Amino acid sequence: MSAITKEAVLAALGKVQEPDLKQDLVTLNMVRNVEIENGVVSFTVMLTTPACPFRVKIERDAKEAVMTIAGVQAVAVKMDSDVPNDGRMRGLVKTPIRNAIAIGSGKGGVGKSTVSVNVAVALAQAGARVGLLDADIYGPNTPTMLGVEKLPPPQGPKLIPAEAYGLKMISMGLLVKPGQPLIWRGPMLNSAIRQFLGDVEWGELDYLIVDLPPGTGDASLSLAQALPLSGAVVVTLPQLVSLEDAGRGLNMFKTLEVPVLGIVENMSYLELPDGSRMDLFGAGGGEYLAKITETDYLGGIPIDQNVRIGGDTGKPIVAEHPDSPVAKALVEIAQKIASKISVAAIGVNNSVPINIVE
Ligand code: ADP
Repeated sequence: MSAITKEAVLAALGKVQEPDLKQDLVTLNMVRNVEIENGVVSFTVMLTTPACPFRVKIERDAKEAVMTIAGVQAVAVKMDSDVPNDGRMRGLVKTPIRNAIAIGSGKGGVGKSTVSVNVAVALAQAGARVGLLDADIYGPNTPTMLGVEKLPPPQGPKLIPAEAYGLKMISMGLLVKPGQPLIWRGPMLNSAIRQFLGDVEWGELDYLIVDLPPGTGDASLSLAQALPLSGAVVVTLPQLVSLEDAGRGLNMFKTLEVPVLGIVENMSYLELPDGSRMDLFGAGGGEYLAKITETDYLGGIPIDQNVRIGGDTGKPIVAEHPDSPVAKALVEIAQKIASKISVAAIGVNNSVPINIVE
C-alpha cells in the first residue's frame, strides 16, 4: 500500500469549495497542520468567521474529500477560525478592531437596537470577540437590553467596557446620569463622539457592532466619519413610510462611501396560534427596497412579545429563547453579516485574509 502524502491531502482539499468565498480551502489558505499517521489524516480548517453558516457543510465536505484518498482509514478535522481584518486604519481607536459594523435606521423605534444587541450576542455565542458600541445618544437603551447597570471602575485613563453575554459593551447611557437629557449639537457632539470612540479599552475585537442614532442627522454623520466602518446594515419596518426613511439612511451610507451590507426587515409578521402569518405592517417592503436600491436583503424578523420582554429585562432573545423563529432569524442575519464582512475583507486583501497568512 502506497503511503498517503501531504500533497495528496492538499490536492483533495483543493477541490472543496468555501461557498461564500467561492474558492477552495487550499487557495484560501484555510488548511493547517496536516498530519498523517497510520492511515489517519488530521488537519485544521481555519474559517474566516466562527459564525460561518457553512461550518458543518465545509467540515463534512473536507472529511469526504480526504476519505477518497486510497489508504485513508479515518479523518479528524478540527474547525477553527481567524477573522480577517478589513484593512482600514482606525486611528482614534488604538486597539486592533478588525471590523466595525454600523446598524442604522431611518427612524427610531424600528428595532435597530434590538438587532444590534442580538446580532452582537449571536456573534459572541459563535465564539467571536465582539464589542457593542451604543452610540444612540438620543435613546441609549442597550444597557437595559443587556441588563448592564454600570461600567466597571476605570483602572487607568481609559474606560473599561461592561461585559454581558460574552461581549464587551459601552453606551452613552452608562456615562450620563439617568434622566439627564443629551442635547449635543455640531462641534460639541463631534468631540464627544470622538472621545467616546478613542477612550475605551476594547482589547482586540473581531467585530465592533455600532448601534447608530436613528436618522441621518449630525450624530450619525459624525460617527460614520470618525470611525472607518467595514460596512453598514439598515433596519426597516415593512411599510412604505418606513421604507422611505430607510432609503434616506441607505443614501447616507452611500454618500459616506460606507459599504452597505444589506437591509433587515423587522416586525415582518405575527405568527398566529394556528401557524398562519399576519402582516401587521404590510409585507415584502424590505425585499422591495433591497431590490430597487440594488442592496442585499439580509432577512426578516417576525414579531414576538418575547423580544420586547427580553429587551426590557436584559435578556436578549437569541440567548433566552434560541429556538424561537425570531432568534433563528437573528442568528441567520448575524451569520450573513459575518460572511459578507469576510468576503469584503478577502476582496480587499487580494484573495488571502491578511491575518491568516502564516
Ligand atoms: P430602535 O433602536 O430602532 O429605536 P428598539 O430596538 O429599541 O428600536 O425597539 C423598539 C421597541 O420594539 C422595543 O421595546 C423592542 O423590544 C420592540 N421590538 C423590536 N423588535 C421587535 C420584534 N421583532 N417583536 C416584538 N417587539 C419588538
